[in-house]
Amino acid sequence: MEIVSAADLQPLNTLSVPATAAHYCRIDSAADVPEAVAYSERRGLPRLVLGGGSNIVLSGDFAGLVMHLLIAGIEPEIKGSAVRLRVGAGENWDALVRHCLSRDWYGLENLIAIPGHVGAAPIQNIGAYGVELSSVLDSVEGWHLPSGEFRRLSRDDCQLAYRDSIFKHALRDAFVITHVNLCLSTEPRVNTGYQALAAALPADREPTPQLVADTVAAVRASKLPDPAHTPNVGSFFKNPIVSAARHEALRAEHPALPAWPMADGRTKLAAGWLVEQTGWKGKRRGAVGVHERQSLVLVNYQQASGGEVLALAEDIRRDVLKQFGVALEIEPRVY
Ligand code: FAD
Ligand code: NAP
Repeated sequence: MEIVSAADLQPLNTLSVPATAAHYCRIDSAADVPEAVAYSERRGLPRLVLGGGSNIVLSGDFAGLVMHLLIAGIEPEIKGSAVRLRVGAGENWDALVRHCLSRDWYGLENLIAIPGHVGAAPIQNIGAYGVELSSVLDSVEGWHLPSGEFRRLSRDDCQLAYRDSIFKHALRDAFVITHVNLCLSTEPRVNTGYQALAAALPADREPTPQLVADTVAAVRASKLPDPAHTPNVGSFFKNPIVSAARHEALRAEHPALPAWPMADGRTKLAAGWLVEQTGWKGKRRGAVGVHERQSLVLVNYQQASGGEVLALAEDIRRDVLKQFGVALEIEPRVY
Protein backbone atom coordinates (compact mmCIF):
# COMPACT_ATOMS: atom_id res chain seq x y z
CA MET A 1 0.00 0.00 0.00
CA GLU A 2 1.53 3.30 -1.09
CA ILE A 3 0.95 6.55 0.81
CA VAL A 4 1.09 9.69 -1.33
CA SER A 5 1.72 13.14 0.17
CA ALA A 6 -0.09 16.35 -0.83
CA ALA A 7 -2.59 14.54 -3.07
CA ASP A 8 -4.92 16.60 -5.26
CA LEU A 9 -8.54 16.04 -4.20
CA GLN A 10 -10.16 18.32 -6.80
CA PRO A 11 -10.66 15.53 -9.36
CA LEU A 12 -11.91 13.23 -6.57
CA ASN A 13 -14.92 15.32 -5.47
CA THR A 14 -17.81 15.98 -7.87
CA LEU A 15 -18.26 19.51 -6.52
CA SER A 16 -14.75 20.07 -7.91
CA VAL A 17 -13.64 22.03 -4.88
CA PRO A 18 -9.89 22.69 -4.93
CA ALA A 19 -8.29 20.90 -1.96
CA THR A 20 -5.41 18.61 -1.10
CA ALA A 21 -4.94 15.68 1.29
CA ALA A 22 -1.78 15.66 3.41
CA HIS A 23 -1.76 11.85 3.00
CA TYR A 24 -3.62 9.66 0.51
CA CYS A 25 -3.77 5.94 -0.20
CA ARG A 26 -5.68 3.64 -2.54
CA ILE A 27 -7.43 0.76 -0.82
CA ASP A 28 -7.58 -2.11 -3.35
CA SER A 29 -8.27 -4.97 -0.95
CA ALA A 30 -9.88 -5.39 2.47
CA ALA A 31 -6.46 -6.24 3.94
CA ASP A 32 -5.25 -2.70 3.12
CA VAL A 33 -7.80 -1.19 5.53
CA PRO A 34 -6.21 -2.17 8.88
CA GLU A 35 -2.81 -1.22 7.45
CA ALA A 36 -4.02 2.26 6.50
CA VAL A 37 -5.79 2.69 9.84
CA ALA A 38 -2.62 1.71 11.70
CA TYR A 39 -0.63 4.25 9.61
CA SER A 40 -3.06 7.03 10.57
CA GLU A 41 -3.12 6.00 14.23
CA ARG A 42 0.68 5.94 14.52
CA ARG A 43 0.74 9.55 13.31
CA GLY A 44 -2.43 10.73 15.06
CA LEU A 45 -4.04 11.63 11.71
CA PRO A 46 -7.76 12.10 11.13
CA ARG A 47 -9.18 9.86 8.38
CA LEU A 48 -11.51 10.49 5.48
CA VAL A 49 -12.94 7.38 3.81
CA LEU A 50 -13.57 8.34 0.20
CA GLY A 51 -15.67 6.70 -2.51
CA GLY A 52 -16.72 8.63 -5.61
CA GLY A 53 -16.71 11.98 -3.77
CA SER A 54 -20.28 12.76 -4.89
CA ASN A 55 -21.70 13.40 -1.44
CA ILE A 56 -18.97 15.37 0.35
CA VAL A 57 -18.07 19.03 0.69
CA LEU A 58 -14.41 19.77 1.40
CA SER A 59 -14.29 23.00 3.37
CA GLY A 60 -10.49 23.20 2.99
CA ASP A 61 -7.36 21.07 2.69
CA PHE A 62 -7.58 17.79 4.60
CA ALA A 63 -4.74 17.44 7.10
CA GLY A 64 -5.12 13.70 7.62
CA LEU A 65 -5.21 10.47 5.58
CA VAL A 66 -7.67 10.00 2.74
CA MET A 67 -8.46 6.29 2.33
CA HIS A 68 -9.79 5.89 -1.21
CA LEU A 69 -11.92 2.75 -1.28
CA LEU A 70 -11.39 1.12 -4.69
CA ILE A 71 -12.01 -2.56 -3.89
CA ALA A 72 -13.39 -4.23 -7.05
CA GLY A 73 -15.42 -7.36 -7.70
CA ILE A 74 -18.98 -8.59 -8.21
CA GLU A 75 -19.49 -12.14 -6.94
CA PRO A 76 -22.91 -13.65 -7.71
CA GLU A 77 -24.52 -16.68 -6.06
CA ILE A 78 -27.78 -17.79 -7.67
CA LYS A 79 -30.27 -20.14 -6.00
CA GLY A 80 -33.59 -20.49 -7.80
CA SER A 81 -34.80 -16.96 -8.45
CA ALA A 82 -32.70 -15.45 -5.63
CA VAL A 83 -29.53 -13.66 -6.67
CA ARG A 84 -27.08 -12.84 -3.92
CA LEU A 85 -24.30 -10.44 -4.85
CA ARG A 86 -21.15 -9.65 -2.90
CA VAL A 87 -19.86 -6.39 -4.32
CA GLY A 88 -16.58 -4.58 -3.64
CA ALA A 89 -16.99 -1.12 -2.12
CA GLY A 90 -15.07 0.46 -5.00
CA GLU A 91 -17.41 -0.66 -7.77
CA ASN A 92 -19.27 2.17 -9.49
CA TRP A 93 -22.93 2.12 -8.41
CA ASP A 94 -24.47 2.97 -11.78
CA ALA A 95 -22.25 0.43 -13.58
CA LEU A 96 -23.44 -2.20 -11.08
CA VAL A 97 -27.10 -1.38 -11.82
CA ARG A 98 -26.47 -1.72 -15.57
CA HIS A 99 -24.46 -4.94 -15.09
CA CYS A 100 -27.35 -6.47 -13.12
CA LEU A 101 -29.93 -5.45 -15.71
CA SER A 102 -27.86 -6.99 -18.50
CA ARG A 103 -27.94 -10.31 -16.60
CA ASP A 104 -31.66 -10.11 -15.73
CA TRP A 105 -30.99 -9.62 -12.01
CA TYR A 106 -33.70 -7.27 -10.82
CA GLY A 107 -34.30 -4.87 -7.94
CA LEU A 108 -31.93 -1.97 -8.64
CA GLU A 109 -33.59 -0.41 -11.70
CA ASN A 110 -35.09 2.68 -9.98
CA LEU A 111 -31.65 3.44 -8.54
CA ILE A 112 -29.95 3.79 -11.93
CA ALA A 113 -27.72 6.81 -12.65
CA ILE A 114 -26.93 7.64 -9.02
CA PRO A 115 -23.25 8.66 -8.94
CA GLY A 116 -20.75 7.24 -6.48
CA HIS A 117 -19.40 3.91 -5.32
CA VAL A 118 -21.17 0.85 -3.93
CA GLY A 119 -19.48 1.19 -0.51
CA ALA A 120 -21.14 4.56 0.10
CA ALA A 121 -24.66 3.41 -0.81
CA PRO A 122 -25.53 2.20 2.73
CA ILE A 123 -24.21 5.39 4.37
CA GLN A 124 -27.29 7.39 3.44
CA ASN A 125 -29.41 4.44 2.30
CA ILE A 126 -29.48 5.88 -1.22
CA GLY A 127 -32.93 6.35 -2.64
CA ALA A 128 -34.68 7.58 -5.75
CA TYR A 129 -37.96 7.17 -7.61
CA GLY A 130 -39.69 5.37 -4.75
CA VAL A 131 -36.98 2.79 -3.98
CA GLU A 132 -34.26 2.76 -1.33
CA LEU A 133 -31.19 0.57 -0.94
CA SER A 134 -32.89 -0.93 2.14
CA SER A 135 -35.20 -2.95 -0.16
CA VAL A 136 -32.25 -4.98 -1.53
CA LEU A 137 -29.53 -4.77 1.12
CA ASP A 138 -28.65 -8.02 2.87
CA SER A 139 -25.58 -6.96 4.88
CA VAL A 140 -22.31 -5.06 4.76
CA GLU A 141 -18.79 -6.21 5.58
CA GLY A 142 -15.99 -4.02 6.78
CA TRP A 143 -13.46 -2.95 9.36
CA HIS A 144 -15.00 -2.08 12.72
CA LEU A 145 -12.65 0.51 14.21
CA PRO A 146 -13.74 0.33 17.87
CA SER A 147 -12.96 -3.41 18.06
CA GLY A 148 -10.17 -3.49 15.49
CA GLU A 149 -11.67 -6.43 13.59
CA PHE A 150 -13.59 -7.26 10.43
CA ARG A 151 -17.32 -7.57 11.02
CA ARG A 152 -20.48 -8.25 9.07
CA LEU A 153 -23.50 -6.06 9.85
CA SER A 154 -26.97 -7.27 8.89
CA ARG A 155 -29.45 -4.92 7.27
CA ASP A 156 -31.13 -4.43 10.65
CA ASP A 157 -27.75 -3.64 12.24
CA CYS A 158 -27.32 -0.85 9.65
CA GLN A 159 -30.46 0.93 10.98
CA LEU A 160 -31.38 2.21 7.53
CA ALA A 161 -33.89 5.05 7.46
CA TYR A 162 -34.77 7.93 5.14
CA ARG A 163 -31.32 9.02 3.77
CA ASP A 164 -29.89 7.80 7.04
CA SER A 165 -28.12 4.87 8.72
CA ILE A 166 -26.05 3.89 11.75
CA PHE A 167 -22.99 5.08 9.78
CA LYS A 168 -24.15 8.67 10.33
CA HIS A 169 -24.66 8.14 14.06
CA ALA A 170 -23.23 5.44 16.40
CA LEU A 171 -20.82 4.17 13.72
CA ARG A 172 -19.96 7.53 12.17
CA ASP A 173 -16.28 7.32 11.10
CA ALA A 174 -16.14 4.00 12.92
CA PHE A 175 -16.80 1.42 10.18
CA VAL A 176 -15.02 1.13 6.81
CA ILE A 177 -17.28 -0.77 4.42
CA THR A 178 -15.28 -3.12 2.19
CA HIS A 179 -18.14 -5.16 0.68
CA VAL A 180 -21.89 -4.80 0.26
CA ASN A 181 -24.14 -7.88 -0.01
CA LEU A 182 -27.33 -7.47 -2.01
CA CYS A 183 -30.37 -9.72 -2.54
CA LEU A 184 -31.81 -9.40 -6.04
CA SER A 185 -34.17 -11.58 -8.03
CA THR A 186 -34.42 -13.06 -11.52
CA GLU A 187 -38.18 -12.38 -11.28
CA PRO A 188 -39.08 -8.83 -12.31
CA ARG A 189 -41.06 -6.81 -9.75
CA VAL A 190 -41.32 -3.31 -11.12
CA ASN A 191 -42.02 -0.39 -8.81
CA THR A 192 -43.76 2.38 -10.72
CA GLY A 193 -45.56 4.07 -7.81
CA TYR A 194 -43.52 7.27 -7.86
CA GLN A 195 -45.59 9.91 -9.70
CA ALA A 196 -42.84 11.39 -11.88
CA LEU A 197 -41.86 7.89 -13.02
CA ALA A 198 -45.44 6.78 -13.70
CA ALA A 199 -46.01 9.96 -15.70
CA ALA A 200 -42.89 9.45 -17.82
CA LEU A 201 -43.48 5.76 -18.64
CA PRO A 202 -45.05 5.16 -22.06
CA ALA A 203 -48.77 4.44 -21.54
CA ASP A 204 -48.93 1.82 -24.32
CA ARG A 205 -46.25 -0.56 -23.00
CA GLU A 206 -46.08 -2.92 -20.05
CA PRO A 207 -43.29 -1.59 -17.80
CA THR A 208 -40.33 -3.98 -17.66
CA PRO A 209 -37.30 -3.45 -15.39
CA GLN A 210 -35.31 -2.27 -18.41
CA LEU A 211 -38.03 0.20 -19.40
CA VAL A 212 -38.20 1.52 -15.82
CA ALA A 213 -34.41 1.95 -15.75
CA ASP A 214 -34.33 3.65 -19.16
CA THR A 215 -37.17 5.98 -18.13
CA VAL A 216 -35.56 6.92 -14.79
CA ALA A 217 -32.22 7.51 -16.54
CA ALA A 218 -33.90 9.74 -19.16
CA VAL A 219 -35.85 11.79 -16.58
CA ARG A 220 -32.72 12.23 -14.48
CA ALA A 221 -30.66 13.32 -17.50
CA SER A 222 -33.33 15.89 -18.42
CA LYS A 223 -33.44 17.46 -14.93
CA LEU A 224 -30.10 16.97 -13.22
CA PRO A 225 -26.79 18.61 -14.14
CA ASP A 226 -23.98 16.17 -14.94
CA PRO A 227 -21.18 16.76 -12.40
CA ALA A 228 -18.62 16.12 -15.16
CA HIS A 229 -19.64 19.45 -16.76
CA THR A 230 -21.47 21.22 -13.95
CA PRO A 231 -19.85 20.36 -10.61
CA ASN A 232 -22.41 19.47 -7.90
CA VAL A 233 -23.20 16.91 -5.19
CA GLY A 234 -26.85 16.28 -6.05
CA SER A 235 -29.40 17.44 -3.49
CA PHE A 236 -27.72 19.74 -1.02
CA PHE A 237 -30.61 19.58 1.46
CA LYS A 238 -32.62 16.65 2.76
CA ASN A 239 -36.40 16.75 2.57
CA PRO A 240 -37.43 17.76 6.10
CA ILE A 241 -39.61 15.38 8.08
CA VAL A 242 -42.08 16.99 10.46
CA SER A 243 -44.88 15.85 12.75
CA ALA A 244 -48.37 15.52 11.24
CA ALA A 245 -49.51 18.45 13.42
CA ARG A 246 -46.67 20.66 12.21
CA HIS A 247 -47.54 19.74 8.63
CA GLU A 248 -51.20 20.64 9.16
CA ALA A 249 -50.17 24.05 10.51
CA LEU A 250 -47.86 24.66 7.56
CA ARG A 251 -50.47 23.48 5.05
CA ALA A 252 -53.04 25.89 6.48
CA GLU A 253 -50.66 28.73 5.71
CA HIS A 254 -49.20 27.32 2.47
CA PRO A 255 -51.80 25.07 0.77
CA ALA A 256 -49.51 24.35 -2.21
CA LEU A 257 -46.71 22.86 -0.07
CA PRO A 258 -45.99 19.35 -1.47
CA ALA A 259 -45.84 16.72 1.27
CA TRP A 260 -45.93 12.93 1.63
CA PRO A 261 -46.91 10.78 4.62
CA MET A 262 -44.11 8.59 6.06
CA ALA A 263 -44.64 5.08 7.43
CA ASP A 264 -44.03 6.33 11.00
CA GLY A 265 -46.91 8.86 10.88
CA ARG A 266 -44.73 11.90 10.26
CA THR A 267 -44.77 13.91 7.02
CA LYS A 268 -42.01 14.54 4.48
CA LEU A 269 -41.92 18.04 2.98
CA ALA A 270 -40.42 18.91 -0.42
CA ALA A 271 -37.22 20.83 0.40
CA GLY A 272 -36.96 21.86 -3.27
CA TRP A 273 -40.32 23.64 -3.13
CA LEU A 274 -39.36 25.48 0.06
CA VAL A 275 -36.10 26.70 -1.54
CA GLU A 276 -37.94 27.71 -4.70
CA GLN A 277 -40.37 29.89 -2.72
CA THR A 278 -37.48 31.89 -1.28
CA GLY A 279 -36.51 32.91 -4.81
CA TRP A 280 -33.11 31.19 -4.84
CA LYS A 281 -33.80 28.83 -7.78
CA GLY A 282 -31.53 29.66 -10.72
CA LYS A 283 -29.77 32.44 -8.78
CA ARG A 284 -26.03 32.78 -9.15
CA ARG A 285 -23.70 34.43 -6.63
CA GLY A 286 -20.12 34.80 -7.74
CA ALA A 287 -18.70 31.42 -8.65
CA VAL A 288 -21.56 29.43 -7.08
CA GLY A 289 -25.30 29.20 -7.57
CA VAL A 290 -28.54 27.26 -7.44
CA HIS A 291 -29.30 25.18 -10.54
CA GLU A 292 -32.04 26.60 -12.77
CA ARG A 293 -33.98 23.30 -13.11
CA GLN A 294 -33.40 21.83 -9.64
CA SER A 295 -33.45 24.12 -6.63
CA LEU A 296 -31.85 21.53 -4.32
CA VAL A 297 -28.69 21.39 -6.42
CA LEU A 298 -25.96 23.90 -5.64
CA VAL A 299 -23.44 24.34 -8.44
CA ASN A 300 -19.77 25.24 -8.35
CA TYR A 301 -19.47 27.19 -11.61
CA GLN A 302 -15.90 28.43 -11.32
CA GLN A 303 -13.68 26.50 -8.97
CA ALA A 304 -15.15 28.08 -5.86
CA SER A 305 -13.98 26.87 -2.47
CA GLY A 306 -16.10 24.60 -0.30
CA GLY A 307 -16.52 27.59 2.02
CA GLU A 308 -18.23 29.63 -0.72
CA VAL A 309 -20.67 26.79 -1.44
CA LEU A 310 -21.40 26.36 2.27
CA ALA A 311 -21.96 30.11 2.71
CA LEU A 312 -24.58 30.01 -0.06
CA ALA A 313 -26.21 26.97 1.56
CA GLU A 314 -26.33 28.80 4.88
CA ASP A 315 -28.08 31.81 3.32
CA ILE A 316 -30.66 29.53 1.70
CA ARG A 317 -31.22 27.73 5.02
CA ARG A 318 -31.67 31.08 6.78
CA ASP A 319 -34.27 32.27 4.23
CA VAL A 320 -36.26 29.00 4.40
CA LEU A 321 -36.20 29.14 8.19
CA LYS A 322 -37.38 32.76 8.16
CA GLN A 323 -40.19 32.18 5.65
CA PHE A 324 -41.46 28.77 6.83
CA GLY A 325 -39.91 28.11 10.25
CA VAL A 326 -38.46 24.89 8.83
CA ALA A 327 -34.77 24.12 9.42
CA LEU A 328 -33.19 22.43 6.40
CA GLU A 329 -30.44 19.89 7.00
CA ILE A 330 -27.44 19.62 4.68
CA GLU A 331 -27.31 16.16 3.04
CA PRO A 332 -23.64 15.81 1.97
CA ARG A 333 -20.98 15.28 4.63
CA VAL A 334 -18.88 18.37 5.26
CA TYR A 335 -15.14 17.91 5.96
P1 FAD B 1 -18.53 9.86 -1.09
O1 FAD B 1 -18.98 11.22 -1.48
O2 FAD B 1 -17.16 9.46 -1.47
O3 FAD B 1 -18.73 9.66 0.48
C1 FAD B 1 -19.93 10.04 1.10
C2 FAD B 1 -19.84 9.66 2.59
O4 FAD B 1 -19.77 8.23 2.72
C3 FAD B 1 -18.58 10.19 3.25
O5 FAD B 1 -18.90 10.51 4.58
C4 FAD B 1 -17.63 8.99 3.23
O6 FAD B 1 -16.68 9.01 4.27
C5 FAD B 1 -18.58 7.83 3.39
N1 FAD B 1 -18.09 6.61 2.72
C6 FAD B 1 -17.88 6.45 1.40
N2 FAD B 1 -17.47 5.20 1.13
C7 FAD B 1 -17.40 4.56 2.34
C8 FAD B 1 -17.03 3.23 2.74
N3 FAD B 1 -16.65 2.31 1.85
N4 FAD B 1 -17.07 2.93 4.07
C9 FAD B 1 -17.45 3.87 4.98
N5 FAD B 1 -17.81 5.12 4.66
C10 FAD B 1 -17.79 5.46 3.35
N6 FAD B 1 -28.12 10.18 -3.56
C11 FAD B 1 -29.27 9.49 -3.41
O7 FAD B 1 -29.51 8.90 -2.35
N7 FAD B 1 -30.21 9.45 -4.40
C12 FAD B 1 -30.01 10.06 -5.58
O8 FAD B 1 -30.86 9.98 -6.47
C13 FAD B 1 -28.80 10.81 -5.78
N8 FAD B 1 -28.59 11.48 -6.92
C14 FAD B 1 -27.45 12.20 -7.08
C15 FAD B 1 -27.25 12.90 -8.28
C16 FAD B 1 -26.11 13.64 -8.48
C17 FAD B 1 -25.92 14.41 -9.78
C18 FAD B 1 -25.10 13.66 -7.48
C19 FAD B 1 -23.82 14.42 -7.71
C20 FAD B 1 -25.30 12.99 -6.28
C21 FAD B 1 -26.47 12.25 -6.07
N9 FAD B 1 -26.71 11.55 -4.87
C22 FAD B 1 -27.86 10.83 -4.71
C23 FAD B 1 -25.73 11.61 -3.77
C24 FAD B 1 -24.59 10.55 -3.93
O9 FAD B 1 -24.45 10.16 -5.25
C25 FAD B 1 -24.83 9.32 -3.07
O10 FAD B 1 -24.94 9.67 -1.71
C26 FAD B 1 -23.69 8.29 -3.20
O11 FAD B 1 -24.02 7.10 -2.52
C27 FAD B 1 -22.35 8.82 -2.68
O12 FAD B 1 -21.35 7.90 -3.07
P2 FAD B 1 -19.82 8.30 -3.12
O13 FAD B 1 -19.06 7.03 -3.37
O14 FAD B 1 -19.59 9.38 -4.08
O15 FAD B 1 -19.58 8.78 -1.63
P1 NAP C 1 -39.20 15.11 -8.05
O1 NAP C 1 -39.64 13.88 -8.78
O2 NAP C 1 -39.31 16.44 -8.73
O3 NAP C 1 -39.95 15.17 -6.64
C1 NAP C 1 -39.61 16.20 -5.70
C2 NAP C 1 -39.59 15.63 -4.32
O4 NAP C 1 -40.86 15.08 -4.05
C3 NAP C 1 -38.59 14.51 -4.15
O5 NAP C 1 -37.63 14.95 -3.25
C4 NAP C 1 -39.37 13.31 -3.65
O6 NAP C 1 -38.90 12.79 -2.43
C5 NAP C 1 -40.76 13.82 -3.43
N1 NAP C 1 -41.74 12.89 -4.04
C6 NAP C 1 -42.23 12.96 -5.29
N2 NAP C 1 -43.12 11.98 -5.49
C7 NAP C 1 -43.19 11.27 -4.35
C8 NAP C 1 -43.93 10.13 -3.94
N3 NAP C 1 -44.80 9.53 -4.75
N4 NAP C 1 -43.74 9.67 -2.70
C9 NAP C 1 -42.87 10.25 -1.88
N5 NAP C 1 -42.14 11.34 -2.22
C10 NAP C 1 -42.30 11.85 -3.44
O7 NAP C 1 -37.68 14.90 -7.56
P2 NAP C 1 -36.31 15.07 -8.31
O8 NAP C 1 -35.57 16.12 -7.66
O9 NAP C 1 -36.49 15.08 -9.80
O10 NAP C 1 -35.60 13.69 -7.93
C11 NAP C 1 -36.13 12.46 -8.38
C12 NAP C 1 -35.69 11.35 -7.44
O11 NAP C 1 -34.26 11.25 -7.46
C13 NAP C 1 -36.08 11.59 -5.99
O12 NAP C 1 -36.41 10.34 -5.41
C14 NAP C 1 -34.82 12.15 -5.36
O13 NAP C 1 -34.68 11.82 -4.01
C15 NAP C 1 -33.73 11.47 -6.17
N6 NAP C 1 -32.53 12.36 -6.26
C16 NAP C 1 -31.74 12.46 -5.16
C17 NAP C 1 -30.62 13.27 -5.17
C18 NAP C 1 -29.71 13.33 -3.98
O14 NAP C 1 -28.60 13.85 -4.10
N7 NAP C 1 -30.10 12.83 -2.83
C19 NAP C 1 -30.30 14.00 -6.31
C20 NAP C 1 -31.15 13.89 -7.40
C21 NAP C 1 -32.27 13.07 -7.38
P3 NAP C 1 -37.64 11.80 -2.32
O15 NAP C 1 -36.44 12.65 -2.58
O16 NAP C 1 -37.73 11.34 -0.91
O17 NAP C 1 -37.81 10.71 -3.31
